[in-house]
Amino acid sequence: MNRVAYLVEKGKLEVRTSGIPTVGPKDILVKVRACGICTGDIYAFQGYPVWFSLPAALGHEASGEVVAVGPDVRRFKPGDRVAALAGPGFSDYIVVEESFAEHIPSNTPFEHAIGEPLACAVNGVRLAAPRFGDTVAVVGTGFMGLLLVQALSRMGLEHLVAVDVRDERLALAAEFGADVQVNPEREDLNRVIDSLGGGCDIVIEATGSPKGVATATAIVKKKGRLCIFSFHPAPVPVDMRVWDLKGLEVLMTNPNRAEDMRANLRLAMTMLGRGVFKMEKLVTHKWPLDDIQRAFQYASSKSLDYIKGVIVP
Ligand SMILES: [Zn+2]
Repeated sequence: MNRVAYLVEKGKLEVRTSGIPTVGPKDILVKVRACGICTGDIYAFQGYPVWFSLPAALGHEASGEVVAVGPDVRRFKPGDRVAALAGPGFSDYIVVEESFAEHIPSNTPFEHAIGEPLACAVNGVRLAAPRFGDTVAVVGTGFMGLLLVQALSRMGLEHLVAVDVRDERLALAAEFGADVQVNPEREDLNRVIDSLGGGCDIVIEATGSPKGVATATAIVKKKGRLCIFSFHPAPVPVDMRVWDLKGLEVLMTNPNRAEDMRANLRLAMTMLGRGVFKMEKLVTHKWPLDDIQRAFQYASSKSLDYIKGVIVP
């Protein structure tokens, strides 16, 4: 039996049962052990128009244990622990073509080895492409922003700037290596810009909000690179005169622009194993699959103690 959670209408998830999916020659069958709740899933739950229609089986951040493999599978065997770029992850079992899965580091628990968001963070940093000695800002230190901070902290930057309206998150960003913290609700951005010698070489926007885009635009320096990393669930008005005046390079740094998300997943798992990504303080909540309705309600509530939730079927 396979339980699968469906978003059936705005604000309502339903766990249905079906048969265990069958594997093709190059597929692996994975018993899901954890699947992250993505902000995109929450947008859908809240009724924002997203990229799929309802009813939808959600979850694309799965990790788990291989329980069966097709005859042509080369890289995996039953018992292997894997992260997969596949769904629907809010279920007991998923089938994945083997090239969309990666081994997870041996000491990492399943709920920390949620591959897709880590692959997105790898993708975001690689596309932003900072150079040694650059000053880079991450605007928005939610789960994804903090992953970006962790990755960027290893890159030999002059300054790594974290920007958020929540001081608790800025403190966490500092702990992860951001040497400058800015709360735009309390601080004069012009003073910050001056103290950074005219602004940041690269700014990565990870807020999903129009305000975040405006802040990112304000602190990037002339001819700097503005990276739009987050998914925006609604149209964002921008003052393009500033983009024009500053001569900015504006870059989408999301998976749609990725060279190869499978390569990013492989790198992400290597970085996880090497401690570049530290998940202990980021994965704050877990719920069993049957509690998914409650999980999504909590994840939607923007409670300060919540950074990242996972479903552990
Ligand atoms: Zn995601």
